[in-house]
Amino acid sequence: MPKNSGKSLQERDLQAIWHPLTQHQTASPPIAISKAKDALFWDEDGKEYIDGIASWYTAMYGHCNDHIISAVSQQLRELDQVVFTGFTHKPAVNLAEKLLEILPKNQAKIFFNDNGSTAIEAGIKMALQYHFNKGEKRDVLIAFENGFHGDTFGAMSASGLAVYNGPFQDFSLKVKRIPPPTNENVREVMASLKSIMADNLCAAIVYEPLIQGAAGMKFHDKEALEQVLKICHENKVITIADEVMTGFGKTGKHFSSLYLDVSPNIICLAKSLTAGISPMSITSCSQEIYDAFLDDEIGKAFFHAHTYSANPVGCAAAIAGIELLLSEEIQENITRIQNAHWEFKQRLSQHSNISEVRTMGVILAIDLNVEMTRYGKLRNQLFNHFMDKGIFLRPLGNTIYILPPFVITEKQLKKIYDSIEEAIALV
Ligand SMILES: *Cc1c(COP(=O)(O)O)cnc(C)c1O
Repeated sequence: MPKNSGKSLQERDLQAIWHPLTQHQTASPPIAISKAKDALFWDEDGKEYIDGIASWYTAMYGHCNDHIISAVSQQLRELDQVVFTGFTHKPAVNLAEKLLEILPKNQAKIFFNDNGSTAIEAGIKMALQYHFNKGEKRDVLIAFENGFHGDTFGAMSASGLAVYNGPFQDFSLKVKRIPPPTNENVREVMASLKSIMADNLCAAIVYEPLIQGAAGMKFHDKEALEQVLKICHENKVITIADEVMTGFGKTGKHFSSLYLDVSPNIICLAKSLTAGISPMSITSCSQEIYDAFLDDEIGKAFFHAHTYSANPVGCAAAIAGIELLLSEEIQENITRIQNAHWEFKQRLSQHSNISEVRTMGVILAIDLNVEMTRYGKLRNQLFNHFMDKGIFLRPLGNTIYILPPFVITEKQLKKIYDSIEEAIALV
């Protein structure tokens, strides 16, 4: 008899696994998920859930998508993995070319990493070494208040959310924070930027363009952000756009940076890059950044690598994902969801329990008019309300947000809207 027979998956999980972002002393046991298709997944008892946040913004073309499965299976039979230092392969080259076609025009080179955090990590290191290679000592980062950039040390230092950083505060990189720029505060933001940059010690600014995801899908303003980026460029502060959440169509354009008249020096991509198939990320950069690493001296090179860099299977998934993103069908779906969100926003506009509703692309966020802590009791009640209805949403404090897969049906979307209206009435 196998040792674990008779035990449920949850019991076995509890004995063997430590979950992310989980206080195991008080958390309910995790729900075992056995399959997924399109905008749905099912638990081991067969209960169906609508994936209202595309499994953290990854499975945007729907779970177990046939086009992606076939590209990945074919790749698996041809080349699974090879060292990416000194070697190259077709999926990596094809993917890099495809990305450069759709990224802002100033992006010239594609560097591969393993996940969102390490994409940011590589971006920060590129910026620091850019100045080092040019013989300048710059060691301060600028970042937005309440930004989120990942959980490795560099990315975490740039992040401004205390739940994640608390115990590690003393081990951070040097970071100065400014509020995300809006049309209301832009004067003060520019003034504080000027004083931060006065001593020429700032190496880079790390920011989520136009929408801060983990902060609660908070928006800031295009013109104000352009002013910030422009003054950074004037002061040789490298601009690093974290498009890990916003990338690949979620804001309505392929990338959030494409809304802006000022393009960043470096862009970080992950999450839906591989459409939910495997962890992989990209740090792209302009020619000017790349050129600063060219020298006869080997030490000027970017000595940074991950074992699985440009894994061919991940690349194949990413190429298939971009093909879908550019398809008429997905573009029509984005418009359809955008319009539905606008209508829902109108419907909610008079509600007294709501302080703000905002929407951009397929993202919709609703701030409830109540005091709530990020992982507090009321937030958990909301979460449970949705799960009972078979809807997976993860409210961020008092913000309920939807970021559905592009393939979500009208009926599924309506079911989410209805359950949100019920939730609002409950608080
Ligand atoms: C999720 C996220 C990250 C971190 O990505 P991981 O793959 O979880 O390491 C970084 N930045 C933003 C904006 C994110 O949403």
